[in-house]
Amino acid sequence: MWRVLRNRLGEMKNTKRPFRPGAVLAVALGVALAMAGILAAVASSARSSDEVALHQQRQLLAGALAERRLQAILEAENIATSNLAVEHIWREFDPRWAHQNIGLRLKALFGAAHVFLIDGLDRFVYALSDAESIDPASFGDTLGHLWAVIEDVRGRRVPGTADELELATVDPGSNLRRPTRAARLQTFLGRPAIVAAVVIAPEDGASDIDRKFLSRLGVRLELPDLHMVEAPEAANASGVELTSDTGETIARFAWSPSRPGTDLLRAVVPFLAVTVACLLLLAGFVLRYMRRTTAAIAAGEDRLRHLALHDPLSGLPNRTCFGERLSGMIDSVRRTGSPAAVLSIDLDRFKDVNDTLGHLVGDVLIRAVAQRLVRVLAGDDLVARLGGDEFAVITSNVCGQAALHALGARIIDALRVPYSILGHTLVTGASIGMALIEPCSAEAADILRCVDIALYRAKNDGRNRACIYDAAMDADLRQRKQLEHDLRRAIEREDLSLAFQPIVNPSGEWITGVEALCRWHHPIRGEVEPAKFIPIAEHSELIVPLGEWVLREACREVGAWPDVSLAVNVSPLQFRRPDFVEMVERVLGETRFEGSRLELELTESTLLGNIEDTSAAMRRLRALGVRLVLDDFGTGYSSLLYLRSFPFHSLKVDRSFVANIESAADAAAIVHAVVSLGRGLGMKVTAEGVETAEQHLFLRAAGVHSLQGFRFGHPVPPQAIAERIARQGRTRPLRSSGLSALAGRARQAHG
Ligand code: C2E
Ligand code: MG
Ligand code: MG
Repeated sequence: MWRVLRNRLGEMKNTKRPFRPGAVLAVALGVALAMAGILAAVASSARSSDEVALHQQRQLLAGALAERRLQAILEAENIATSNLAVEHIWREFDPRWAHQNIGLRLKALFGAAHVFLIDGLDRFVYALSDAESIDPASFGDTLGHLWAVIEDVRGRRVPGTADELELATVDPGSNLRRPTRAARLQTFLGRPAIVAAVVIAPEDGASDIDRKFLSRLGVRLELPDLHMVEAPEAANASGVELTSDTGETIARFAWSPSRPGTDLLRAVVPFLAVTVACLLLLAGFVLRYMRRTTAAIAAGEDRLRHLALHDPLSGLPNRTCFGERLSGMIDSVRRTGSPAAVLSIDLDRFKDVNDTLGHLVGDVLIRAVAQRLVRVLAGDDLVARLGGDEFAVITSNVCGQAALHALGARIIDALRVPYSILGHTLVTGASIGMALIEPCSAEAADILRCVDIALYRAKNDGRNRACIYDAAMDADLRQRKQLEHDLRRAIEREDLSLAFQPIVNPSGEWITGVEALCRWHHPIRGEVEPAKFIPIAEHSELIVPLGEWVLREACREVGAWPDVSLAVNVSPLQFRRPDFVEMVERVLGETRFEGSRLELELTESTLLGNIEDTSAAMRRLRALGVRLVLDDFGTGYSSLLYLRSFPFHSLKVDRSFVANIESAADAAAIVHAVVSLGRGLGMKVTAEGVETAEQHLFLRAAGVHSLQGFRFGHPVPPQAIAERIARQGRTRPLRSSGLSALAGRARQAHG
């Protein structure tokens, strides 16, 4: 049990606080990653959008240039392939006509910068520049730049590379009836130019790619500020390089590229900023929420831990907490060498309070007991409730057995002060088992076992006492357990017997009654004293069947002896049973014994607990005619409250006072006082344990109503009593030697 509790505590100790920075970090990282992802996605889409746009623009430009080449061919064909042209150029070359109708028209209509005519022998026969017919020879070597297109149009050169195909437009379907035509992008006179050539009307046309053209092209292709650049790097980012067939760079174009990606980015950035701000806000909220939740969980765990370690009814630490502190205390004692102690406190008859007055009263009583315990003990002592009516204390404020005994007594005194609970006055006692924790002490479980044994002893010794464990208790416990087992069997088999002790009148002559006393002859141990087996019976509740058996047997025996009353001892446990009065009534009925002949002897501890219920039961018994005797008067709590509150018929002065009459003056005075008190309250007084003539004389003089003791007869089997009663009537002589002095002392005390 203790090990399980310790394990549970260990688990609780290992439980971490709920603040988890790892989780917070993970959320923060997640949010940061999400933001980075969004940013990267937007930036990458912007970049690819830019690239797509640039590529499209390049394609558009290339397409436009190709279209322009074709257009140049068509323009040349338009002018040069008419019949008149064939007449004036091909049949008989007319320089004036050629200038007027070919050169100037191409210039005027299509803006050709230069126009050349080449004869069948590939000789330049005409040249136009700035609307003037000039000598082709004045172009010098520059004319050589036109050979490529001439070769193309003559069909002497087959395009070999992808670049050439892209840049040269050659009509592959050319034949004699349909002149071959060609156009190339190249440099001419240091400038990029489209050179177009047609064959049948062999007038060549070449057109510059001039600024106007570029601007028109730019407008058409939506390439703002399309222009030519010199520096190669200027064309790299947003431009295109034109290369000749030989791979030589002809021109570089550049324009202000439209950048949809950048525009997109610009458009997106404000939204993105808002998104990021929102995300940051969200992250803030999440963090705040998590921190609050963490705090709430921490508080909840603290509450749970408190609940797990405390008893909700009394608010005291519970068994788990007690186990933890005990282990800690044992370690501390081993370290420091200063002793400590454990006390196990069990309320006497708490169950009866619960059964008779209900759990609400029981709960309030538990709380009140808890408060008293806390008040009695020092601040650093631990008071725990282990469950039910079981409390425990760990104290480091005792230095030895004497101090521990004193502490036990203080606790008992504090707990037995009457409680006033929900209109009921309750008195409860406590049994306490105690054990010292010393540096050589064993583990917690062993110490608790010792405390339990001491508690068992305290209960068996009559309850309402505190016992410190010693090694002899172990053997004693084993013996008690064995006896308990044997007693159970003896009750079942009715192996018990009864002895009857006479109760006589003050002169000692007449047997007025008998007290039934239980006897147990153990098959191995022989006679076992009631002082030994009655506490065991009470502890194991075997006293209930045993008591009923005694009552029944006694009534049966004594029923045959007329005019003799019967006194039967009743254990507190028996008396507090709700069916006790019914049981007495039933036995009286079964044995036909008159209630008025029965005396039930109760001890003061019977009266602890619920005063109302006890006195109610007593009144019901009185109604049956049964008389109630307060036995062993003076040994218990001896509260005068009991005598006033409970309807006793008589009280029995305990034999410890009687025994001391001769030796101790105060004992004699007490006996006198008790007799006076009883008489004053209208009760009869019996003195028990009368052994000597001196005691007899003293008590008689003190005015007791009846006497009991070895002097008038030991407890004997029923036959012996039956014989004595049969002899009743003959006066029993009393020994009178030396009695006069005692009688005088008794009269003195009484007076
Ligand atoms: P008790 O009720 O006070 O019974 C009187 C005890 O005192 C008896 O002890 C008796 O033998 C003894 N006694 C009587 N006269 C003298 C005397 O002159 N000198 C001395 N020294 N002793 C004397 P016993 O029979 O051993 O019983 C002890 C106690 O056991 C009883 O004390 C009673 O409390 C309890 N007991 C005995 N039988 C029963 C029973 O059937 N039921 C219950 N509940 N308790 C019983
Ligand atoms: Mg008695
Ligand atoms: Mg007695």
